[in-house]
Amino acid sequence: MDYDLIVIGSGPGGYVAASRAGMLGKHVLLVEKDELGGVCANRGCIPAKSLLHGAKVYHAAKEGAHLGVHGDVSYDFGEALAWKDDAVTTLRNSIAFLEKQSHVDVVKGNALCVDAHHVTIGETSYETEHLLIATGSSPAVPPIPGAKDNPHVVTSDGIFSLASLPSSVAIVGGGVIGIEFASYFSLLGIKVDVIEMLPEILPMMDGELAKLMRRAMASVSFHTGAKVERIEGGKVVFVDTKGVEQSVDAELVLIATGRRPNLDGMDNLHLEATRKGIVVDEHMETSVSGVYAIGDVNGISLLAHSAENMAHIAVDALYGTGKERFDASLIPWAVYGEPEAAGCGLTEAQATGKGFEVASAVSFLRSNGRFLAEEGKRAPGMAKVVADKKSGKILGVHLLGPASSEMIWGVARPLTVKDLADTVFPHPSFSEALHDCAEKLMV
Ligand SMILES: Cc1cc2nc3c(=O)[nH]c(=O)nc-3n(C[C@H](O)[C@H](O)[C@H](O)COP(=O)(O)OP(=O)(O)OC[C@H]3O[C@@H](n4cnc5c(N)ncnc54)[C@H](O)[C@@H]3O)c2cc1C
Repeated sequence: MDYDLIVIGSGPGGYVAASRAGMLGKHVLLVEKDELGGVCANRGCIPAKSLLHGAKVYHAAKEGAHLGVHGDVSYDFGEALAWKDDAVTTLRNSIAFLEKQSHVDVVKGNALCVDAHHVTIGETSYETEHLLIATGSSPAVPPIPGAKDNPHVVTSDGIFSLASLPSSVAIVGGGVIGIEFASYFSLLGIKVDVIEMLPEILPMMDGELAKLMRRAMASVSFHTGAKVERIEGGKVVFVDTKGVEQSVDAELVLIATGRRPNLDGMDNLHLEATRKGIVVDEHMETSVSGVYAIGDVNGISLLAHSAENMAHIAVDALYGTGKERFDASLIPWAVYGEPEAAGCGLTEAQATGKGFEVASAVSFLRSNGRFLAEEGKRAPGMAKVVADKKSGKILGVHLLGPASSEMIWGVARPLTVKDLADTVFPHPSFSEALHDCAEKLMV
């Protein structure tokens, strides 16, 4: 055998799995056809957060008169892109360094699986004992007439290569990617329309908070319950909730309606797969013994930290205890817009639907000392804790407000309301809102 393990794809799933196996002394090959770091580092999490942060700083300075901040501020898109590129390049380099430190061989090329033990890259064939597929996902463009081969239309892949800022944007899809870009463009003063088929944006978020989030993004026009019929140039034509045809005109149309698994080069393996991705068991093993699939390509949870967690599980199954399991209820999510939001576990409606006797409590951040000091009375912010009345177990936590993404990890683990009520939080801090919810539930 040339290798103990060949990993295909160097996103947060693949590069983490390769380096962990390498650190365990295994002989590992990591194959990447594009840049190291996958979608997350190059066309996802990191570039999106870099641009969003710049837009937030710009907006805060421009709207800071109430805090005594005055003066002319401007936003230079070229400089923002250069800052983003620097972050991306630095991250790619640190991934290359990590693989080197872990004694992982890295090869650039398109991997073609010949069978469960043989992979070809260009003219070269490699033999391996085990195979780990971490090829990720790509934007899925629905069959909307006019969505393809239209110079006005981009996906999240194309949006990072814009030469200049558009004067107006229509976003098809009100999920995380759509809402983050809606925040970005609207913070820069650009007209934004979001067209979402479901009755509410951000379906994983508790309905009460999603509504508040939508209201907080006051400069964005939301069209929920709207089905896009066709796109003509920059005109997006949709049917509203009353069945009436409506349209919005924009210079740029972003399609953010979902993603499809990258399965090219896998045909010879005859893996069991659905539309969402490769079917895996609880150890991330596919229907073919010795072949594992982690991250977006298995469609279980399309998040970078889920891919990383699955990398740990697959490597543990191969070379460790075999005891690690993926638990979706412990996976937090975050939306890095303005306002920020994060959550974990069940919404109140989901918990009720599953038959729990639900107890829930909310805390509005306008009664939180730090929030009042920094954001003021009119800014929106809310925490909600959903618990099982009988056992006191926390079933879900939903946050809307500053630093939500930094707070959520603390409750993304098995906890009871009493655990949270017994925890001492720093004062003043936004996270005291969680304590407030727990105290309300203890009564
Ligand atoms: C705009 C945007 C923002 C996002 N923001 C966040 C966020 O804030 N937080 C979060 O958790 N998630 C975020 N995500 C999702 C996150 O990027 C993905 O969940 C994550 O990248 C999945 O990791 P992965 O390892 O499964 O695959 P990927 O990151 O998709 O990497 C797969 C790699 O495999 C390579 N590859 C594919 N086929 C082959 C082949 N045959 N041979 C060789 N190489 C191959 C690809 O080139 C790619 O580099 C965002 C996504 C987008 C699009």
